[in-house]
Amino acid sequence: MHDFKLKNNTLYCEQVPLERIAAAVGTPVFVYSRKTLLDHLRKLQRAFAPVDALICYSMKANSNLSICRLLTQAGAGVDIVSGGELYRAKKAGVPGEKIVYASVGKTMEEIEEALAAGIAFFNVESKPELELIDAVAGRLKKCPAAAIRVNPDVDAHTHHYITTAKKQNKFGIDFDAAEEIFLRTAPRLRHVRLCGIHVHIGSQIEHVTPFVEALKKTAAFIARLNGRGAAITHLNIGGGLGIIYHREKPQTADAYARVILPILRKTGLRIIMEPGRFIAGNAGVLLTKVLYVKDTAAKRFVIVDAAMNDLIRPSFYGAYHDLVVMPAARGGRRRAADVVGPVCESGDFLAKDRLLPAGVRQGNVIAVLSAGAYGFSMSSNYNSRRRAAEVLVSGDRYRVIRKRETYQDLVRNDVIGES
Ligand SMILES: *Cc1c(COP(=O)(O)O)cnc(C)c1O
Repeated sequence: MHDFKLKNNTLYCEQVPLERIAAAVGTPVFVYSRKTLLDHLRKLQRAFAPVDALICYSMKANSNLSICRLLTQAGAGVDIVSGGELYRAKKAGVPGEKIVYASVGKTMEEIEEALAAGIAFFNVESKPELELIDAVAGRLKKCPAAAIRVNPDVDAHTHHYITTAKKQNKFGIDFDAAEEIFLRTAPRLRHVRLCGIHVHIGSQIEHVTPFVEALKKTAAFIARLNGRGAAITHLNIGGGLGIIYHREKPQTADAYARVILPILRKTGLRIIMEPGRFIAGNAGVLLTKVLYVKDTAAKRFVIVDAAMNDLIRPSFYGAYHDLVVMPAARGGRRRAADVVGPVCESGDFLAKDRLLPAGVRQGNVIAVLSAGAYGFSMSSNYNSRRRAAEVLVSGDRYRVIRKRETYQDLVRNDVIGES
């Protein structure tokens, strides 16, 4: 559930009418609900309390410092995927022992930074990466914990760009190669403790079946390895829980826990999980203003001031986001339109052939729902567009948690030189 609700033809975030934020802060702007973010985290905390899981919010979903700090203060750690995210995590006050780090391409510099920060786990995705971590840790006189990210070769039945655990994907290590690393490579590495297994099979997964399949395979693998002398203590089950964008019927946190807790308990291991979208997705909307309504012989285009550089999900994944046109008149005639941005790409759209109120006009504010995850964090400056502002609502108050970029921001790092 979330705290974006219609009252008197106006969409509210908690107790603040969104049109008020659009007028005061300008558009495009991302608006997040503090209460929804915390509710989503608490649902998982409660569901996984029986195994005392460490919940590491996957901050690539939304890495705003205020949001990371909010979730950290509520007990979460973070899952990072780059040195930049490590930097943000530290700025947000996340303690090193609650940071886990996955990525197929960690650089030496990033490994050094993570060692200096004393992170909890390196989630390792290849043998040369493990060897480099060992070498760097030896040089810096550290001995970090590491997990092997396994690739269990299951189909998560999600968009092919966000499925990560088929054997043709770049992520993780297949069971045979992982076994070889645990039994042959790890014993000769003196500066890394290989004691975990990590498995993350994809994102926006709506049904529990692929999770169960992956975890059963992984649990059997762990039992076999520990039987052969490995000392695995931690199991990181990744993220990937799907949310409702349109008509999806994803498993709830409780339903997910009910099915997988028995498998987790049987392993006897410490459990880590990495939800991203589940926490942030439905906790945010993107507000945009209608610039023009352009009726052509073929179709109607509603041209808005947000574009694919602000929210790339429709263009990139063919993703569906619900739209609410404000003021939100009840009933009335509807007419199909493409909702498009100003960017010079035919792939620049927020919705295609969407039924909108026929009277939609210049100046209306449109709320693009479910934009809290992989919205701002995937945004860019393409077409030299300034990235949007971000606002956090709490009760009847709101504050800007990221200022809209300026034109100066756009050219800050450019250097005009002799050619
Ligand atoms: C992206 C990612 C997640 C979070 O995925 P969601 O679908 O947002 O929950 C978790 N773990 C890893 C390793 C990831 O790359």
